[in-house]
Amino acid sequence: MAAHDFDFFVIGAGSGGVRAARIAAGHGARVGIAEDLYLGGTCVNVGCVPKKLMVYAAHVAHDMQDAAGFGWTIGGRRHDWATLIANKDQEIGRLNGVYRRLLDGAGAQVFDARARLIDAHTMALGERVVTAERILIATGGWPTKPDEPGAEHGITSNEVFYLPHLPERVVIAGGGYIAVEFAGIFQGLGAEVTQLYRGPLFLRGFDDDIRSVLAREMTKAGIDLRFNVRIARIDKSGETLHVRLTDGAALEADCVLYATGRIPNTRGLGLEAAGVALDGQGAVIVDEEYRTNVSSIYAVGDVTNRFNLTPVAIAEGHALADSLFGGNPRRIGYDNIPTAIFSTPPCATVGLTEAEARARGGPVDIYKSDFRPLKHTLSGRDERTMMKLVVDRDSDRILGVHMVGADAGEIMQGVAIALNCGATKTQFDRTIGIHPTAAEEFVTMRTRQPEPKEGDSRAAAE
Ligand code: NDP
Repeated sequence: MAAHDFDFFVIGAGSGGVRAARIAAGHGARVGIAEDLYLGGTCVNVGCVPKKLMVYAAHVAHDMQDAAGFGWTIGGRRHDWATLIANKDQEIGRLNGVYRRLLDGAGAQVFDARARLIDAHTMALGERVVTAERILIATGGWPTKPDEPGAEHGITSNEVFYLPHLPERVVIAGGGYIAVEFAGIFQGLGAEVTQLYRGPLFLRGFDDDIRSVLAREMTKAGIDLRFNVRIARIDKSGETLHVRLTDGAALEADCVLYATGRIPNTRGLGLEAAGVALDGQGAVIVDEEYRTNVSSIYAVGDVTNRFNLTPVAIAEGHALADSLFGGNPRRIGYDNIPTAIFSTPPCATVGLTEAEARARGGPVDIYKSDFRPLKHTLSGRDERTMMKLVVDRDSDRILGVHMVGADAGEIMQGVAIALNCGATKTQFDRTIGIHPTAAEEFVTMRTRQPEPKEGDSRAAAE
């Protein structure tokens, strides 16, 4: 008789957990997986998927505005928020079912329960106690709000997908992915949007040209972007939120969205009981093989707070299952992870920023293009696209690629493959463009930017 109830027990059925459970079961392991909230985790339920559907909804508004220049007359434009949310919920419900069928089909036993560790091999699932040879923590992250007076009147990304109606005036706190994405969504759907960021320029960590060009484009689109400012307090009277800012300004809003970061979801899991070490932010500390300090317990995805992106969690979960049960020990590579921000317009990036490349010490060549996309010559929309290559002069290798403009995410996925193959600028130049596209600009840029003067690089100083 087996020593444990399961070979592998996964806590958390989000992107990383589901992939690990499915693959391990496919390799013949006896797998259990526990989830107390929703199958598919943040990405499917209150993250990437519903967010992208709402981005599409906002872009339809732009398409209708742009239509006149192409000869269309579109009358009776009206958006029904309730229809959008209902259709979105229906799709999420379908995906929840797909996830359950995938797990069932793979032979993993799903527990709709909260799991709490009792020791290195034992968990409580409600009243029930189960044991496993190996346990995977894949509980993701959870949004946080700053501790400021009246913060309870604000919502987070957990609630924003379920608002009963479109708020007319929205204040968004934060300058990361979620803040800029929702600024575009709300603005596109017709709300008046103010976005507040505590530093001098949002999207800290991204290439400076992405940061400044997106700020320029969002401002042109009508978003009230305010930097070096935070919320001081929020008071509520009736349905109106009175938002006082640290610079003394006052705003009225129908909704305040805090997009001020996420923390690892480790509370109440019994990790202390099992002796699992956490870092100062509450993230599970793992080694290169996703193993915690307790040899039977592993962790992947946002709960480890390293690269908090769905595809990374999926890749980690898959690699772990292959390593433990597939006779194929492997790790994933963390270089050149592409990422997109589904802002309006979108941004995407892969590899090093210009500041990171310069900080390495060797000479760096920059190629940059900032142009009006063909579509907007007729639409009349005042929106420009920015594309940028960061090149190592000595080896000719492309170190980083950055873009703000339509379809940036779609374009960057292919570019990321080239970077992972070690592509050089010469190879980019030899590639024939597809005409007329924006993407062809990446293979036709020939003019090097002038060398920056001393003290030019803002990011290098940060
Ligand atoms: P981020 O960590 O990206 O951004 C948080 C923002 O809030 C930063 O601008 C930060 O400022 C600011 N902030 C933090 N604390 C405070 C505070 N006390 N007062 C005011 N501002 C504050 O978090 P998000 O919530 O936007 O997203 C969470 C994660 O989810 C992201 O890191 C990303 O990995 C993932 N995600 C990915 C998406 C994608 O791939 N398209 C989409 C959405 C989310 P500062 O920069 O100064 O620290």
